[in-house]
Amino acid sequence: MDGARTAKQRIFLGAEADAALRRKRVALVGLGATGSVQAAWLARGGVGHLTLMDRDLVELSNLQRQILYTEGDLGRFKAEAAATRLAEANPEVDLRPVVADLTSGNALELLSGFDLILDGTDNFEARFLLNDVALRTGTPWIYAGAIGAEGVVWPLNPPRTPCLRCLLEEPPSSGDVDTCDSAGVLGPAVGVIGSWAALEALKILSGKEPHEELARFDLWRNERQFIRAPAERCRFCKEGITEFLDARWTLRASALCGLEGVQIRVNPPGHLDLEGIAARLRTRTGTPWTLSDPALRGEDGGCRVTLFRDGRAILHGPVTPERARGWYTEVVGC
Ligand SMILES: [Zn+2]
Repeated sequence: MDGARTAKQRIFLGAEADAALRRKRVALVGLGATGSVQAAWLARGGVGHLTLMDRDLVELSNLQRQILYTEGDLGRFKAEAAATRLAEANPEVDLRPVVADLTSGNALELLSGFDLILDGTDNFEARFLLNDVALRTGTPWIYAGAIGAEGVVWPLNPPRTPCLRCLLEEPPSSGDVDTCDSAGVLGPAVGVIGSWAALEALKILSGKEPHEELARFDLWRNERQFIRAPAERCRFCKEGITEFLDARWTLRASALCGLEGVQIRVNPPGHLDLEGIAARLRTRTGTPWTLSDPALRGEDGGCRVTLFRDGRAILHGPVTPERARGWYTEVVGC
């Protein structure tokens, strides 16, 4: 073991806590902006194992704030590009990239057996699922999110501590939530939030108590706020109700945020025969379809279609969720 690598951290944490980090297993869900920052600090800090889960590809508009990626990574899966970059920073970490869409059908399988689960996601559906996984498996997790120049961080370990639903009973409806597409986001704000979450992670992993309250920063207006959950626990963590984890949906079609089009997700994610589907689509549309892993791409009915091997599909163009669902069922089955 290279003792020099974390020498400065060891002075602060102590030899025992520093060494303990190397035995810890952490899962990070979402490797966008806040996820990049959290992953970088934990890998450099010498966490033993890091599972890196993300479903998306690196795009040009990510580079402004997703600090793990460079132009050479465009079109790669974020999970894989992140693992490459982090291995360069610290080859001693056991890194496991997982390209997956987290759903109720695969969440327990993918997120069991960790000392800590970190939130690098960009949506409340995923966070409520993480909250359920944490509750079911007894794993601490850290809620983190940033938008504009503001963000929140909240370390949780239900049922020992309050859970996300003690403060926020249901996911806010999508119309009520600002997203990166509606509000924009500043790179340095993401840096602060990701770093704050990583710092709380280091406390948890070295056996210290994290900050108890939800911390909220508005870094443009110079405001900060600490919010404590009500003293009374919600019925979900009190009674162990995990309704997001128990949800048994099979196919969801939702309008893309900020763009014309629809995203289709399947639960649990599968393994499509993209070669067979490509042949069918070429016959159906009479147009070229290109299959280069990870995705099959082509056009049908005025939409640009990207179909991933795990069953996810994105249809860019003038299409409603209902029509997209019909197209998917017809072409892919399900
Ligand atoms: Zn609760």
